[in-house]
Amino acid sequence: MSAECLRALGLWDEPRVLEPGKAGAGDPGVIVSENPATGRAIAAVRLDDAASYDACVAGAREAFLKWREVPAPVRGQVVRAIGDEVRRLKTPLGELVTLEVGKIRQEGLGEVQESIDIADFAVGLSRQLYGLTMPSERPCHRMFEQWLPLGPVGVISAFNFPNAVWAWNAMLAAVCGDTVVWKPSLLAPLTAIAGNRIADRVATQMGHPGVFRLVIGADDAVGERMVADRRLPLISATGSCRMGRRVGQVVAGRLGRCLLELGGNNAVIVDRSADLDLAARAILFAAVGTAGQRCTTTRRLIVHESVVEQLLPRLVGAYKQIRIGDPMDERNLVGPLINARAVDAFLAAVATAREQGGRVVIGGDRVRVPGLDGNFVEPTIVRAPPDRGLPIAHEETFAPILYVFTFKEVEQAVRMNNDVDQGLSSAIFTDSVRSAERFLAPAGSDCGIANVNIGTSGAEIGGAFGGEKDTGGGRESGSDSWKAYMRRQTCTVNYGAHLALAQGINFG
Ligand code: NAD
Repeated sequence: MSAECLRALGLWDEPRVLEPGKAGAGDPGVIVSENPATGRAIAAVRLDDAASYDACVAGAREAFLKWREVPAPVRGQVVRAIGDEVRRLKTPLGELVTLEVGKIRQEGLGEVQESIDIADFAVGLSRQLYGLTMPSERPCHRMFEQWLPLGPVGVISAFNFPNAVWAWNAMLAAVCGDTVVWKPSLLAPLTAIAGNRIADRVATQMGHPGVFRLVIGADDAVGERMVADRRLPLISATGSCRMGRRVGQVVAGRLGRCLLELGGNNAVIVDRSADLDLAARAILFAAVGTAGQRCTTTRRLIVHESVVEQLLPRLVGAYKQIRIGDPMDERNLVGPLINARAVDAFLAAVATAREQGGRVVIGGDRVRVPGLDGNFVEPTIVRAPPDRGLPIAHEETFAPILYVFTFKEVEQAVRMNNDVDQGLSSAIFTDSVRSAERFLAPAGSDCGIANVNIGTSGAEIGGAFGGEKDTGGGRESGSDSWKAYMRRQTCTVNYGAHLALAQGINFG
């Protein structure tokens, strides 16, 4: 399978992709991409250095000078053709996502579908980059805002959405008239090469070379250089809060623009009136899907004390049915964690939870899957001690651990929801209009996403996506997120014969 999807995507034709055995052992200019389900090398990838990085950004700048002049609806047609090509290659691309980051095949395909969806969205958007017109206070004056291309945009992506996060940025940036320099995670370089190759090939065939560019390199050699690079007016960075703090500071230091999509610590509140079957199904997907490696994974469950003893057994029953194993096998619902370090972080978090008085209700250990030397762990539920907090639950451990708390009043549950540093996604399950509206009110959830009777993960691309507080405040994808990729210009035209000053000033 490995060879098949790499071949279908043309990866062996890429000069920087090498058969694993052909890379010089210990060569610092090369990384090996490993399959997290088997521990086996898929391919080696040659890294960029400072010189190739500079050439890449210079090329992106040059391409920008032409691309910004192409009418937006024509740019939209290029994005439409890219979306069509991704549709055609959905299966190999989705399987490559599965191979390289270990999410189950259905989710690998779903991620690619998200890229197709955002391309469709961007095509429509290419005819809707609307500015406002406002009445001028001066006679014979017209005042309006227009949105103009910004420049080459730097995109930094996390390992866990190795195709869709780039597409969210790149498809919008492209219709907005920007070129894109993408620095993917070193844990998913092959998916990045495949995705960028499709976009670049289509755009080049349509007469627009150089719009989509890729740099693959270490954080110190390439990442830091990119963040500090004044030729990139916007850095859109997705990843941990630790990374966002660093990137935010450096970009602010050069007065650049930042779009930060950082870590989450998402809670589901289950009210006393909730439909528990609905809640259990949603919690299962949101807590266990992608092996707990989504920014929107449900990590905390806040349950009304009167229903916790009904809900927990349902969840435990469902957890017992989950098949863990090879993510390419459609019978499995949980694949591996990304690497051995992630397994260690999972085990450490479970140990800390125990030390802090948490009770492991199910899971808590690694899993040995026969025939696979992968990074598999058990989806885990930890019940917090009744009268004490559980400090570990304030941290985002990128693994399938669900911490369970109880509450008496909805206001208390909302406070618990908000009582973490991150502010990405949140949800309430309730049949009470009052509880639902309290959750959505100004004193309710402080997250960028607040759902009623659906889980915290699996956002549609039509809404703006992002979170508050330590999640970074950025918004990507739908709604008016496109504005981050353009510069706004306010224009006033005097079509009269007199010079009228604003605020009625008479200057001699
Ligand atoms: P990470 O922070 O380790 O890496 C993310 C990216 O940042 C990588 O490309 C990495 O190379 C780069 N990077 C790190 N330090 C850098 C620096 N100093 N300069 C430039 N680039 C640098 O994150 P990860 O482990 O790949 O992904 C998991 C994290 O991402 C989780 O915290 C998750 O919640 C978050 N995430 C957030 C969203 C969102 O939309 N909010 C989406 C996906 C993942």
